[in-house]
Amino acid sequence: MGELRPGQTYGLKTRLVRGGLKRSSNGETSEALYLTSGFAYDSAETAEARFKGEDDGFVYSRFGNPTVAMFEERLALIEGAPVARATATGMAAVSTALLCHLRQGDHVIASRAMFGGCRYVIEDVLPRYGITSTLVDGTNLDAWRAAVKPTTKVLFLETPANPTLEIIDLKAVAGIAHKAGARLIVDNVFATPVLQRPMEYGADIVVYSATKHMDGQGRCLGGAILCDKKFLTDHLQPFIRNTGPSLSPFNAWVLLKSLETLDLRVRAMCEHAAAVADALAREKKVKRVIYPGRPDHPQAALARAQMGLGGSLVTFEIDGGKAEAFKFANALNLIDISNNLGDAKSLITHPTTTTHFRLTPEARAELGVTDGMLRLSVGLEDPADIADDLRQALKAL
Ligand SMILES: *Cc1c(COP(=O)(O)O)cnc(C)c1O
Repeated sequence: MGELRPGQTYGLKTRLVRGGLKRSSNGETSEALYLTSGFAYDSAETAEARFKGEDDGFVYSRFGNPTVAMFEERLALIEGAPVARATATGMAAVSTALLCHLRQGDHVIASRAMFGGCRYVIEDVLPRYGITSTLVDGTNLDAWRAAVKPTTKVLFLETPANPTLEIIDLKAVAGIAHKAGARLIVDNVFATPVLQRPMEYGADIVVYSATKHMDGQGRCLGGAILCDKKFLTDHLQPFIRNTGPSLSPFNAWVLLKSLETLDLRVRAMCEHAAAVADALAREKKVKRVIYPGRPDHPQAALARAQMGLGGSLVTFEIDGGKAEAFKFANALNLIDISNNLGDAKSLITHPTTTTHFRLTPEARAELGVTDGMLRLSVGLEDPADIADDLRQALKAL
């Protein structure tokens, strides 16, 4: 009772609340938390069968756990993906999705506007194993095409990208990947599966940091990789089993409960972000507002088609450089200075000195990241209070 029936189709909200639910014989309403590292077998024969794969019961929580499995099943149902595997963090998801199948001599093409950790893995970690890469302007389809080599195995991108919120055409890049015989991996953290499901546009693998909107309440780290069954069996499952980036059952339980409200939270955040973006655009001391839901976004039409809503992040440039940006951030009363995002609490960060500090000034300029730029993750507070806080801090300039 209460579990989704296989073969029947359900709406997104139903999948978010009940997807993957597997009740024990106690009939608990909430998902059970199986906080256990191992599993006892009823006989030596059962243990043998489980190791041989002839019995699909649980073996060890590095390979699989009932609470983690409910989270994975729910994510796969939300995304419309064949299968999902959970990881301890978003970065574990990204590095595992790349390392589980790439080998020496392979080549990766990635959009250069991406999360700092992802750029480090591609630019600094992969070359140690003989895997080369080319970074391109993700919005320029000719640049993707021109970067393709016979050894290209993966195209990697994030849309909207951090922190400039540019939008990449998923269908077009998936087409380029498949023509090259490569896989497209999409980091879908900023859009969330509520707004955008990249597999519908041809992505082969989708990765998430569940730390962001999925938890959305600042409690735990988590990540996930969504893919097809063959990729899971051939590459992902054996890699996770033997390298151990696995998610804790406790965190999986927290994330399962969070998914129940993901649709409500993300839609409310988008509504608040749109209002805050408009309020910022009316301020004289704000030079530019970047919000994919505004008609003045350079790719407004693509954003509308791919994401529907504009997302929960607003990036803006104030009149001035680092000193003015710091003065502004320090004058905020309600909004917290934090590099996290997708949280119920509104959070602001200065990319030049935090998320993008590792890049050279030239690399930042190439991305369009300026010293007067701030990235705001709009939360669930009353949007009028968020806008008031921003306006009173602008007065400090
Ligand atoms: C946060 C984030 C990650 C990394 O996730 P963690 O859970 O912090 O490891 C990867 N990609 C994007 C776009 C992110 O925002």
